[in-house]
Amino acid sequence: MQIGCHVSISGSIDKAVDNAIERECSAFQIFTRNPRGWHAKELTKDDITNFKLKLRASKIDRFATCAHMPYLPNLATPKEDGFEKSVKTLINEVERCSQLGIPYLVTHLGSHLGTGEEAGIKRLVEGLTKAGQTKNDVMILLENTAGQKNSVGSDFKQLGEIFKQLKPKKKFGVCFDTCHAFVAGYNLKDKDSVKDTFVEFDRYVGIENLKILHLNDAKGELGCNLDRHYHLGLGGIGEKGIAAVVKFANKKKIPIILETPIDNERDDFENIRKAKEFA
Ligand code: MN
Ligand code: MN
Ligand code: ZN
Repeated sequence: MQIGCHVSISGSIDKAVDNAIERECSAFQIFTRNPRGWHAKELTKDDITNFKLKLRASKIDRFATCAHMPYLPNLATPKEDGFEKSVKTLINEVERCSQLGIPYLVTHLGSHLGTGEEAGIKRLVEGLTKAGQTKNDVMILLENTAGQKNSVGSDFKQLGEIFKQLKPKKKFGVCFDTCHAFVAGYNLKDKDSVKDTFVEFDRYVGIENLKILHLNDAKGELGCNLDRHYHLGLGGIGEKGIAAVVKFANKKKIPIILETPIDNERDDFENIRKAKEFA
């Protein structure tokens, strides 16, 4: 079982590995820099060496690590300058992952901002394809979305159609977020519905393309389109559903990453422990 959570790089990027070990993670996700701005300070030689050395010394498999794109880029935007900046950021993040030896970069598919799905998807495919031309082994993972207004990629069929247009194939994969799928209308409440949802996902996207699973319960109910993550077993998906997803991911050997909240109810330590219990 490969399981962990999103960890902070606060202080220096190699601290992420310490944070992961402290939380008994066998998988983890990071932002390679501050996710709230456009600017990214270049990684120094020391940053890269220290991160790689620590990761190698840990028991964590490199292929159970990933980075997540920052928040501001929107690859489906109709705005010319915003699009250029977003693609530049995506390419830069791919290169940073390559420097750090991180094999996967998770990205959202963006918002068409009311200009229509077709136009948004065209932009998105153009941007992703550009980033796919970079010469390295980093795979860009498309994350299914919660289905908020104007967002692209919450529907598996649409996600599959986007995915099929991307070249070269080896540069792209997918990341499945359980909260997003559930609030987008895909039931995950029990063993049977989990099975049905992944059959549907397999049909349009292909399970073989699934490289990372984001395990989050949902604050809202099935189909509410509300992107609010919640503690495992305590949200709309519930214990039975989360347990079934954990078992499915383990069977398929897909690393599990938690993006659950930290509050009075629980922290990362407790949510990770819970997930291991469910297994
Ligand atoms: Mn995400
Ligand atoms: Mn996610
Ligand atoms: Zn989310």
